[in-house]
Amino acid sequence: MQSKAAEVVARCRQLAQITDVPGETTRLFLSKATRDAHKLLSQWMRTANLNVRTDDAGNLRGSRNGTRPTGPTLLLFSHIDTVPKAGPFDGCLGVVLSIAILELLRDKPLPFSIELIAFSEEEGVRFSWPFWGSRAVVGDISASDLERRDRDGETIASALRDFGLSPSRIPRTCPLPQSTFAALEVHIEQGPVLEHEDQPIGVVDAIIGQTHLEFSFEGKSNHAGTTPMKLRRDALAAAAEWITEVERYASSHKSLVATVGSIQVLPNATNVIPGVVRLTLDIRHKDSRTRHRATNSLIQAALACGMRRAVLVQSATLDEHPSVLMDPTITQKLLEASSLLGAPACILSSGAGHDAMILAPHVPTALLFVRSPDGLSHHPDETVREPDVEAALRTVLTFVERLAHELNTGQILVAQTSRSQP
Ligand SMILES: [Zn+2]
Repeated sequence: MQSKAAEVVARCRQLAQITDVPGETTRLFLSKATRDAHKLLSQWMRTANLNVRTDDAGNLRGSRNGTRPTGPTLLLFSHIDTVPKAGPFDGCLGVVLSIAILELLRDKPLPFSIELIAFSEEEGVRFSWPFWGSRAVVGDISASDLERRDRDGETIASALRDFGLSPSRIPRTCPLPQSTFAALEVHIEQGPVLEHEDQPIGVVDAIIGQTHLEFSFEGKSNHAGTTPMKLRRDALAAAAEWITEVERYASSHKSLVATVGSIQVLPNATNVIPGVVRLTLDIRHKDSRTRHRATNSLIQAALACGMRRAVLVQSATLDEHPSVLMDPTITQKLLEASSLLGAPACILSSGAGHDAMILAPHVPTALLFVRSPDGLSHHPDETVREPDVEAALRTVLTFVERLAHELNTGQILVAQTSRSQP
């Protein structure tokens, strides 16, 4: 298995050479580099005995049939588009590792079909709209979405046609097989938790929800030399007191993170008392009630900080995304697989969004993280350690083999539905 892990790492680095911008890894949705990446991935998929096709949303899909013609389907997935100046492993690791699993299982009859999807446009770089490929397979694409434009004014519909695809066929060629009974994404963690815990892999229980707000603190600008301290209405001093309260509050509530990431001070001059401050607040927690409670508490704290200095505070919610729980049964099976190998994966939540959160409301979905050295991602130096990749390979292989065993012995029952693919 060690050599398989080395091969996975080498293949990810090979894929990273396929780029739209020489000298870095930048692979955008429906670009020339994406076509070349599809070509290479298709070769690897065929080596694993998969039937390969591109659906009309631009997702590359490889599949193999199970022993039962109307049996269930296991889905493996991640994405192959990148951010600009990306590293080699974000997204690609999950796709390349899944191909390796299917190579290892090449000659083994399984009681379920397996489909591997290499999603397109998860990052949303080209059309400023993430999760395009996974939205397409769950039917969450509208006609107006096809009219979204990139920076050059080209619509998604036109870009799909240029790639040789047919947008009108999306409802026919994209949907997940109706028989999908379990779905698994493998992805790098993109954070420091596994490194901190000294764990090679982690099982994700939830992709955490987030609330974004904007605040304005309105005091009074005046001369910095002539206005005594007790007669000031300093908006920045009030905001600064509140920012430290945000940090204190989040630090004292387990798993809560809160960030003031953007601040604008007016008039922003050396010799003028700040009259207006505008800032943003990003709050994340997997439990929506905890997140809502934190939001209300921090709004009240802002009002109190303002009141002490006669500064008017107003807030507005910019957007809110609920938490998405991973399927507890499939997640438990993944944990059991890692435990059987003598190294139980730790459980953590994901602070970043993934295709898994788009699929989870539709099919039982699990997400496995591989440690990110230094917590680094979206950066050319993003990397993985070979033994960690090996741990992920062994865990996923054991997970798939145990699923097969449990289906064969009737320990798990899944609905016998016919496949929806044409
Ligand atoms: Zn990713």
